[in-house]
Amino acid sequence: MFNRRKFLGSSLLASTGWFLRTPGTTSFTYVNKPIVISTWDFGKAANAAAWELLSRQGKALDAVEAGVKIPEADPNNHSVGYGGLPDRDGHVTLDACIMDENSNCGSVMSLENIIHPISVARLVMEKTPHIVLAGDGALQFALANGFKKENLLTPESEKMWKEWLRQSKYEPVINVENKKYSAADKSFAPGGPQNHDTIGMLALDAAGNLSGACTTSGLAFKMHGRVGDSPIIGAGLFVDNEIGAATSTGVGEEVIRIVGSHLVVENMRLGLSPRDACRKAVERIVTRDPQKAKGLQVGFLAMKKDGSYGAFCIQKGFTYAVRSGSEEKIYESESWFS
Ligand code: ASP
Repeated sequence: MFNRRKFLGSSLLASTGWFLRTPGTTSFTYVNKPIVISTWDFGKAANAAAWELLSRQGKALDAVEAGVKIPEADPNNHSVGYGGLPDRDGHVTLDACIMDENSNCGSVMSLENIIHPISVARLVMEKTPHIVLAGDGALQFALANGFKKENLLTPESEKMWKEWLRQSKYEPVINVENKKYSAADKSFAPGGPQNHDTIGMLALDAAGNLSGACTTSGLAFKMHGRVGDSPIIGAGLFVDNEIGAATSTGVGEEVIRIVGSHLVVENMRLGLSPRDACRKAVERIVTRDPQKAKGLQVGFLAMKKDGSYGAFCIQKGFTYAVRSGSEEKIYESESWFS
C-alpha cells in the first residue's frame, strides 16, 4: 500500500522540483521535474501542450506526443506535418519517432497524407512487434487504425515548391541562419521560417521518467524517398531512462553518420553535462570535415535524468524552448562557429 509518510521520508517537494534521497545515504539530490524542452522557437507552443499534462502528473510519453502534435497541425510551420514543404516531386513526406522510459520505440518514415505521424509512430510501438514502418506500409497501417487521409500540401507550401521548380536546383542546403523565404523575390532573407527544422521534444515527468518525440517533413525539396535522422532511433532521438535523452535538428545525413542522439546520451553517461555532451557530438561532425561544416547546421538538445538540460549547435541561430515549474523560456544555443 502507498505509504505517504514513507514516501515523504525519501523525497521532499521543492517549489520547482524534488529533492530525492540518494539510496543508502542521508543526502538529497535536486531533481528538476516535471520539465519539457524542445527544439526551436515553435517549441514554446508545443511545450505548453505538453506542460498541460506534465503539470497534472501526466506521463512523459503522453506529454511529448501531445506536444509535438501542435506544430504537426500548424499550416504555418513549413518544416513539420501539415504545411510542411514537399519533396522535389511535390509530395509532403513525413518522418517521426517516439521513445519511452522502457526503451520502447516506434517510427514512421516517408509517410504521406497523415497529419500526425507521431501518433502513428506511437501505434507502431504499441500495436506491432516492429519499430519502423515506412512509406505505403506505414500509410496502410495508419488507415487501418482509423487515421484519416488528408492533403498536407497547403497552398502556401505549394507556391513555394512551384517557385523552387522554376530553377529545380537540387541543392538541399540547410539555411544556416534564421532566414525567411520570400515568394516575392524568390529568395531567403533573414527572419524565419526556414527550409528545414524538426521538432524534437524531451520530457521528464513527475514520476521521474523520460520520454522523447521527434517529427519533421525533412529537408525541403529533397529527393522522393529521402529519409533524414529524425525517425531513426539513436540518430534523431534517443532516451535512456537511467541517464538522459537527446534529440537533434539540422542536416540529417550528418547526424546519422555519427548516430548523434545516442552519442550525446553516451557522452552524458561518461559524466558530461547536457551542454558539453552536445558540444562533443558537434565536435565530431565539425572535425570530420571542417570545410563542409562551415555550410552546415546541426543542433543537439539534451536532458539528464535530474532535469538539467543544454544544447549545442554548429552555426548560430539554433534556439530551444524550456517549460518547467520555474520557467517558460526560449534560449539561444551556443554554437561552434560564432
Ligand atoms: N533533421 C531534419 C532532416 O534531416 C531536418 C531538420 O531538422 O532541419 O530531415
